[in-house]
Amino acid sequence: MLKNIKPSKTFIGKLSHGMDLLEELTALCIKENITLGRIEGIGAVQKARVGYYNQAEREYQFIEFNSHLEITNLEGNVSIKDNKPFVHAHVTLADEKGNAFGGHLAQGTVIFACEIILHAFEGLELTRSYDDVTGLPLWQD
Ligand code: ZN
Repeated sequence: MLKNIKPSKTFIGKLSHGMDLLEELTALCIKENITLGRIEGIGAVQKARVGYYNQAEREYQFIEFNSHLEITNLEGNVSIKDNKPFVHAHVTLADEKGNAFGGHLAQGTVIFACEIILHAFEGLELTRSYDDVTGLPLWQD
């Protein structure tokens, strides 16, 4: 079910070198009090850690890349989980040969450089809670 929301503020900027990408995005949302939003970004990472959700086992498997990679796409959203802003983002990363791979952005991804645009919305409080069917913390209807 889709819901109508309105744009409120848009932020643009770069994230700090050497910091954790997911933690930086979350900290930014908390600082700016963004509880509903969209994140887009490009840049590069010093190393990466992404999740793949094993649907049969209903748990994330994590993949680590200990190499320098381009962020060819970072796309995510912001909603509320456990009464705090929560960032859910996916990344596509490319290596020195242009091979791309990616997954669910996890802690352990270290920024080399990252430019983001963060769109904040208003008009809805969107909260995540445990979903029995998938085992994931999904948006409540
Ligand atoms: Zn995900």
